[in-house]
Amino acid sequence: MTVRTRFAPSPTGLLHIGGVRTALFNYLFSRHHGGEFLIRIEDTDRARSLPEYTQGILDGLAWMGIAPDAPPVFQSARAARHAEVALELLAAGRAYRCYCTPDELRAMRELAVAEGRPPRYDGRWRDRDPAEAPPGMSPVIRLRSPQQGETVVRDLVQGEVRVGNTELDDLIILRSDGSPTYLHAVVVDDHDMAISHVIRGDDHLTNTFRQVQIFEAMGWARPEFAHIPLIHGADGAKLSKRHGAVGVPEFRTQGFLPEALGNYLLRLGWGHGDAEIISREEAITLFDLDGVGRAASRMDYAKLTHLNGVYIRGADDARLTAEAMARLGDVGEGVEARVQALMPGLKDRARTLVELAQSAAFLARERPLAMEPKAAALLTPEARAMLREVMPALAATDFSAAALDAALREFAEAHGHKLGQVAQPLRAALTGSTMSPGIDATLAALGREESLARIGDVAQ
Ligand code: GLU
Repeated sequence: MTVRTRFAPSPTGLLHIGGVRTALFNYLFSRHHGGEFLIRIEDTDRARSLPEYTQGILDGLAWMGIAPDAPPVFQSARAARHAEVALELLAAGRAYRCYCTPDELRAMRELAVAEGRPPRYDGRWRDRDPAEAPPGMSPVIRLRSPQQGETVVRDLVQGEVRVGNTELDDLIILRSDGSPTYLHAVVVDDHDMAISHVIRGDDHLTNTFRQVQIFEAMGWARPEFAHIPLIHGADGAKLSKRHGAVGVPEFRTQGFLPEALGNYLLRLGWGHGDAEIISREEAITLFDLDGVGRAASRMDYAKLTHLNGVYIRGADDARLTAEAMARLGDVGEGVEARVQALMPGLKDRARTLVELAQSAAFLARERPLAMEPKAAALLTPEARAMLREVMPALAATDFSAAALDAALREFAEAHGHKLGQVAQPLRAALTGSTMSPGIDATLAALGREESLARIGDVAQ
């Protein structure tokens, strides 16, 4: 069997972090089995579906490196096919027309509630002659669902789940305006797209019984199902905005690398021993549904941020420079070269791209630099005098980090200073702050002219 999975977002909002994890699991599962991964945009709810959400979802997936093997399928474009299948079920006697008026349905519901029963359609048109239909009433089509026995699903994550068929009423598959209902459209699409495994959030588990009944009624082989637990916040409630970022664009703006987010989401709900850092290639090799747990996972932003720092340290300098530059906005000429030169030191301490850009910002500042209070405090009269003295020593080097380091050590020794006593006032002069990568690398990145000018600004 060819493994074929799909991610089927409804474009009614931003790409949620839970959705990304579902997409990732589908993607990895198909790759692991040498199969295919598809995207289906479930835009049948015309009022709530917006093209910008569709675009946002596709952009977010592309950013995460979760690429489908074919162009996305739009569910709305398949309405005629959904209707065709409903009519096939009708012709085969597996579905029937129901002419209930809204008033009748309301009365049915009210009676059920009054009698303490769950509100269900009572099947009154199941065997009734359509000739008795009230004039002018457009019917819906309902599935003739089994009334005895059970519907059983062997879920690859949840295990065996079952429901008595008396619990399920005859669901509408085609509305009176000829449009399909959501549950019906999903089944027809999963069948036509030859989906072998439906991997989705466990909030869809109850839909599965309904969908399985449609598969059976059509005589179609049903796919395997795997319902993965949802992501919760630290307090155990379903993840929402009040916990922190939930939409992919937010994580992007907050400076997370897609591979760090992907690694984090992979480990959220799936495990392979104690391994924390798992590359995409390794994930493809290792991923299977056996490792997916049944308990809800809790989003831990601190852990994600830590992991992001690990990925930043391992990331390519040119790429990080571009990310930092994009966040620094309009800056003067030559700044990019400075950022690139200092990147090995900058990336060592940043946990997000926002922090990376903040730590690089001094490279773009214009003279004379504004001093943070702590930096200003370092620039005592003695320190300023020392800076005046160190300038010629620095100027005499070729301004490579190695030569600067040697010159600074020599200067400190000759003047009976510890290296830090020289480096800290220098750092204040060069950066306006008390933190930066190594002072030799910082000097080298700023270059001779800018470094000496910045020192000169405070050394008078
Ligand atoms: N469109 C559904 C959603 O966004 C997913 C349906 C499915 O995966 O079957 O929640």
